[in-house]
Amino acid sequence: MDKLIRFIDIYIPVTACNLKCHYCYIAKSNRRGVEAPELEYSAEHIGRALSKERLGGTVLFNMCGWGETMLMPALTDITREILAQGHYVWIVTNGLITKRFDEMMNYPKEYLERLAFKFSFHYLELKRINKMELFFETIEKVKQAGCSFTIELTSCDELEPYIKEMKELVRSKARADLHVTIPRDGGQKHYPLMSRHTLEEYKNIWSGFNSDMFDFKMSVWGQKRTEFCYAGSWTGLLNISNGEFKACYSSALRQNIFKNIKKPINFVPIGKHCKMAHCHNSHSFLALGNIPEIKSCNYGRIRNRSCDDGTEWLNPRMKEFMSQRLCDNNKQESPLQKFRSEIYYQSITKSRKLVRKLKGLE
Ligand code: SF4
Repeated sequence: MDKLIRFIDIYIPVTACNLKCHYCYIAKSNRRGVEAPELEYSAEHIGRALSKERLGGTVLFNMCGWGETMLMPALTDITREILAQGHYVWIVTNGLITKRFDEMMNYPKEYLERLAFKFSFHYLELKRINKMELFFETIEKVKQAGCSFTIELTSCDELEPYIKEMKELVRSKARADLHVTIPRDGGQKHYPLMSRHTLEEYKNIWSGFNSDMFDFKMSVWGQKRTEFCYAGSWTGLLNISNGEFKACYSSALRQNIFKNIKKPINFVPIGKHCKMAHCHNSHSFLALGNIPEIKSCNYGRIRNRSCDDGTEWLNPRMKEFMSQRLCDNNKQESPLQKFRSEIYYQSITKSRKLVRKLKGLE
């Protein structure tokens, strides 16, 4: 069994999209546009920078753009190079860029076992542009190729009248219920719930999907985290266009991990320095065990579904890998190590503030 050592969320700098979803916070903030951004490094270089040796073991990667991830042509080569290193990769997609899927389905079979797709189910858009059949054909295509997948719905107010018909459709096509995620208002500082309902009303409306993802996210939604978080050590955010790696959304520590690939990566936990009002992507970071005290879920359950024909959305290898927790596979810090990390983080935060002040940014 491959041991899960880290989780890295890769930002793909695509802001263009082939859909126009009303809940899209990128479109709302007028940031739509770039389809094929310039990358500073080749796919081969990126693969070498992310070797198991450098990262300390087998890593679960998640690749996501602000627009449609699969619109970036270089994605096929980059994904192949990361899989060639022996890692596991998820790609977030709306499932409609057929060309990219066809390219990826030509990977060696063993790579496909470690590749998975998170299909975002944009119901109203799929109906509007008449692409519902194509969406489910793509899911069937990746399933037949041996990849894993999940289907996820952004449960916004506009979709309330369609709950019954969406359920029936997905059950008939993918043999299980959708997973459900919570829409956030990315235009507002603290990423609040994007809904006209109270949190309690909203929960009652959308809990009928029995989605582990929804239940777990709801259980921690809006809660400020004050525990010691291992983001930066066990998880991180990576910008694929320039190699900038940071611990998490509010991290002061940034390093370029592509520039000199012989240089070790500084994996320092953010500890108690999370500045976010709540962990809005808790379904990955917290379900994977970044805060060891939070034990109620695992990432495998958040993505998988058992189907009524006996199959599952995750293949056995992916399921086994994703059901591990980072806190079980990594050593936790001693009180002294935590103190050292704390001092280090404080000094980084202070010097970053000073630099910003000198540049007139604060
Ligand atoms: S609590 Fe969540 S948002 Fe905050 S640092 Fe940890 S993983 Fe990141």
